Amino acid sequence: MTRIPPVFVSHGSPMLALEPATAGPMMRTLARERLPRPEAILVVSAHWETTSPTVSRVARSPIIHDFSGFPRRLYELGYDAPGAPALAERTRSLLDSAGLEPRVSEDRGLDHGAWVPLRYLYPEAALPVTQLSVVPRRGAAWHLDLGRALRPLADEGVLVLGSGGLTHNLGEIHGRAADARPPDWVSGFADWAAARLEAGDADALAAFRELGPHAAQNHPTEEHFLPLLVALGAAGRGATGLRVPGGFTYGVLAMDAFVMAAAASAEGSLQ
Ligand code: ZN
Repeated sequence: MTRIPPVFVSHGSPMLALEPATAGPMMRTLARERLPRPEAILVVSAHWETTSPTVSRVARSPIIHDFSGFPRRLYELGYDAPGAPALAERTRSLLDSAGLEPRVSEDRGLDHGAWVPLRYLYPEAALPVTQLSVVPRRGAAWHLDLGRALRPLADEGVLVLGSGGLTHNLGEIHGRAADARPPDWVSGFADWAAARLEAGDADALAAFRELGPHAAQNHPTEEHFLPLLVALGAAGRGATGLRVPGGFTYGVLAMDAFVMAAAASAEGSLQ
């Protein structure tokens, strides 16, 4: 079976569903031209925060409009894909084997961190999809390990899709136009993270709050950066991440995606 590289996408504002800008077409091209077609998708969304890693095991995912104050049209959009109970069980089993004490939800649907990018990546909504939560209280390094526990999925036809934000300070959006240029503190952090990904420096990324320039300003809370670490981890030790530029929205939300590549040599034995 073809290996599916894990991917991280920045989903920006929910308005991405209505305003594709640069990121929407980028995601569509990414899935069409740069990724092998997966059998199923596991989305690790910044918008599902729990105290233990939790995977949703449902036959069909309800759509969650987990935002308020947006145009009515946005609430009419969704993503009518089949659930992925077998993938949910496999995910639970892998996390259990790694001692991560997973839980299962029998009713959790897809939040906008999942369904908004999926509308661009796989608009036909034919692939089974399910979600895995993030656990912010566990911190960044733990999410790298969580991703590493999911490493076998790439060889089983599963796309591990982290969905968050390369930069994510919503408090700084006010007063900025959708197409505003990013200030240096935003582009500087985005470039730092991209360089560390391209170098395969997982340890630096796990310590992003200490090492990344203006990290706290770009990530007042960590949940939107954590899916990136899961996706990197899911490509195995020594993996690198290739930046797929997505531009910026509101000047402060970097919209880049990253395709994670496994280390070139002897990777099976270095697990
Ligand atoms: Zn978000």
